[in-house]
Amino acid sequence: MPHELPKAYEPGLIEKHWAEYWITEKLFSVPTPAEGSTSEGKTRPVFTLLLPPPNVTGRLHMGHMLNQTQMDIIVRWHRMRGFITLWLPGTDHAGIATQMMVERQLAKEGKRRSDLGREKFIERVWEWKKLYGGAILDQMKRLGASVDWDREYFTMDENLSRAVREVFVRLYEEGLIYRGKYIVNWCPRCGTAISDLEVKHEEVAGKLWEIRYPVVGTSSDKPEFITVATTRPETMLGDSAVAVNEKDERYTHLHGKKVVLPLMKREIPIITDELAQPEFGTGAVKVTPAHDPNDFEAGKRHNLPQIDVMDEHAHMNANAGPYAGLDRYEARKRVLADLQEQGFLVGEKDHTLSLGKCERCGTVVEPRLSEQWFIKIQPLAQKAIAAVESGEITIVPDNYRQIYLNWMNNIHDWCVSRQLWWGHRVPAWTCSNDACKEVLVAREEPSACTKCGGAKLEQVSDVLDTWFSSGLLPFTTLGWPEKTRDQAVFYPTTLLITAYEILFFWVARMIMFGCHFMDKHEQDPAIKAANGWGNFKNDSVPFHHVYIHALVRDADRQKMSKTKGNVIDPLDIIERFGTDAVRFTLAAMAAPGTDIAFSESRTDGYRAFANKIWNAARFMFMNVDRVVPGLRPGTTGSATRSHMGIPVGIAGFRTDALEDRWILSRFNRVTADVNDALATYRFHEAANRIYDFFWGEFCDWYLELIKPRLNFEESADTSAARIACANLVNLFDASLRLLHPVMPFITEEIWQTIYEGQAPLKSIALAPFPQADEKQFDLGAETEMAILQDLIVSVRNLRAELKVEGKLKVPIEVFAHQSSVGEMIYQNRAAVERLANAETVTLIEGSFSNMPGARSTARFDVHVIYERKMWRACAAGPRS
Ligand SMILES: [Zn+2]
Ligand SMILES: [Zn+2]
Repeated sequence: MPHELPKAYEPGLIEKHWAEYWITEKLFSVPTPAEGSTSEGKTRPVFTLLLPPPNVTGRLHMGHMLNQTQMDIIVRWHRMRGFITLWLPGTDHAGIATQMMVERQLAKEGKRRSDLGREKFIERVWEWKKLYGGAILDQMKRLGASVDWDREYFTMDENLSRAVREVFVRLYEEGLIYRGKYIVNWCPRCGTAISDLEVKHEEVAGKLWEIRYPVVGTSSDKPEFITVATTRPETMLGDSAVAVNEKDERYTHLHGKKVVLPLMKREIPIITDELAQPEFGTGAVKVTPAHDPNDFEAGKRHNLPQIDVMDEHAHMNANAGPYAGLDRYEARKRVLADLQEQGFLVGEKDHTLSLGKCERCGTVVEPRLSEQWFIKIQPLAQKAIAAVESGEITIVPDNYRQIYLNWMNNIHDWCVSRQLWWGHRVPAWTCSNDACKEVLVAREEPSACTKCGGAKLEQVSDVLDTWFSSGLLPFTTLGWPEKTRDQAVFYPTTLLITAYEILFFWVARMIMFGCHFMDKHEQDPAIKAANGWGNFKNDSVPFHHVYIHALVRDADRQKMSKTKGNVIDPLDIIERFGTDAVRFTLAAMAAPGTDIAFSESRTDGYRAFANKIWNAARFMFMNVDRVVPGLRPGTTGSATRSHMGIPVGIAGFRTDALEDRWILSRFNRVTADVNDALATYRFHEAANRIYDFFWGEFCDWYLELIKPRLNFEESADTSAARIACANLVNLFDASLRLLHPVMPFITEEIWQTIYEGQAPLKSIALAPFPQADEKQFDLGAETEMAILQDLIVSVRNLRAELKVEGKLKVPIEVFAHQSSVGEMIYQNRAAVERLANAETVTLIEGSFSNMPGARSTARFDVHVIYERKMWRACAAGPRS
């Protein structure tokens, strides 16, 4: 039965087929290895990687595509090298984002979430999730991501939610969670606190207004004022003091006095505090403890009242007196107009300010005083710093290590509560007894108040920051809080590949939580030994290595954004060029620390590369079917094995001819380079080396060089053709395995076809990744081939310069600078004649480097003998 590989390479067809096959065959599922199976000397090393869980609302973008390509390459590479390889997938419930999505859906029906109430709203979110939540994972499946789908999780799953409650309660019991009134970043649209990281700052042209406050007790004919400046004049309604610096002599006589707050006609004290800097402005500042984090601290130092003048939607509340009910910006206008009219506004200046906006919805964030839950960041941060400083966790590229440490060293307590409905609800209950109001934190709903015995308890309505639960994933996905076999095998995970933008959001928090909650954890020692992890002492870390990948920009190096309209949809590119070509593009451009300027022309080029491989496979199958039907790779000879038990080099490869010795040596070199490159995340080097080898050396040279041997009709003896076919099949098989992690689909298709549907394994993904055999390096063959290639290319170039017609064979003369080189050229003259289109190759003595139609190199001079026939040029000239 002949090999059946369709004539045309159509990535869409083969990719869909194999993506489904990999899933239905459960090729990438990793059952928990049993106790005995990982004993010393018997176990294989383990490689574990957690997929950064995409938001359940997510759609695949170029960043995911890059991230997933790199992960899949590294994962497939490890699996093919014999590691127990687990890539763990799941999705994040994405608090704010998902809630917004469903709120928008409701808005179309003319409803708000309050119309439904909490319970019905959450039901609605689950419905939404069921309908649309799987989209991004379906896209991953189409991309062939080799994850273990049997272990797929969702951060709101019951077991993960239970672990979240356990963590919260334990932290509370350890005194590391507290509740308090603090100034938080508040989004008036989303109606919730958001973290510093979720605020995007923008430089805008604003104004700075100067307002004067009359000092109490100064004479009415010569009143004295203190002038303060503000960019948010409406907050003055909540002022509870004016601060001056103790050392500022301009104000010494006012210490202990009061001012009248204009518009509100409230007397407030003049305090001395560091908040006021003499060299800045007038040296006096207004103090608004409920609306500014620095003022809040000053307010605590001086025991000032916290006067909150806005509600959760940034409308003025009853504390704002006559301005109650107005939106903050409307109130600003009215306040300024009134101050102007009453003679208190003394200046207005242009002022550039940094405006914080909600990352999700773009609304200007308002600092707001509210009751929130916080994680006391020490000792968590200290442990997380130690883990990186000690080298238990490495971060690549190296500059991110310092960025991480700087952030960790300046970290503040983490506000973990959010005023949303969708998410893990804070496991705390308030006693409804007005005289008691005790707050109980518990794993399960308490039946009675532990303080007053009252039975009426109400659960706190806040939910937890989404990153609270995702920070726990490295161990909660492995069965924590139970001590499980999965943890003994797979924790610490090996590697995390992620984007810089979530280094603090996610990576840092996983390190804090991991080091704290997995303290004293010990990984199975046999696995540690098999992995060569003797140097790692601290098994509490969530992962040993972090690789931060770059950004994908557009072809002009612009950041992709919806407003610029330059967003590239990966699915669209995949549709046009195939997943393999897109993956190859991203890999070939992914030098560590360098952003990728994604260009379609590159992808088009890599589709052509896939096409080249496809055609080479068809050429091979045609010959095999003719010469040795049923031929299989690697059936003869025995090979040395690597320490992982993988055969090195290529088994059963006959090296009778120069081109065989040469290609075998080249294959082993590229193999060594690719393994080295992947070990250090140099995806671009791995991809480019494979490309140069497969196209440049294998297809362009080797296939051309062996053609005469395959053409046995001209020769009575078929043994040369049989050897050539065997070599070709062995080499092709090995090259496909080398390419597989980067281009999984085309390699699977051709590899399966080599075996005519009867492959010894279910997939090339389970076949061994090539390992270099130093014994198969052949410097002599490489040097000789380099000379022949140089000679052939020189002749081709000279022919082009002399404008020799394409098919015309012309004689060439060669002067070899060494007799051994001359002999070698002479022995291989048939190949030179064929590939350089030479009529004859004549070796002559004496240099002719200066002759027209000649070229001189370090090892030879070559002369193409050709005189253009002028009458032809005339005949072909323009006609009148
Ligand atoms: Zn918002
Ligand atoms: Zn009570």
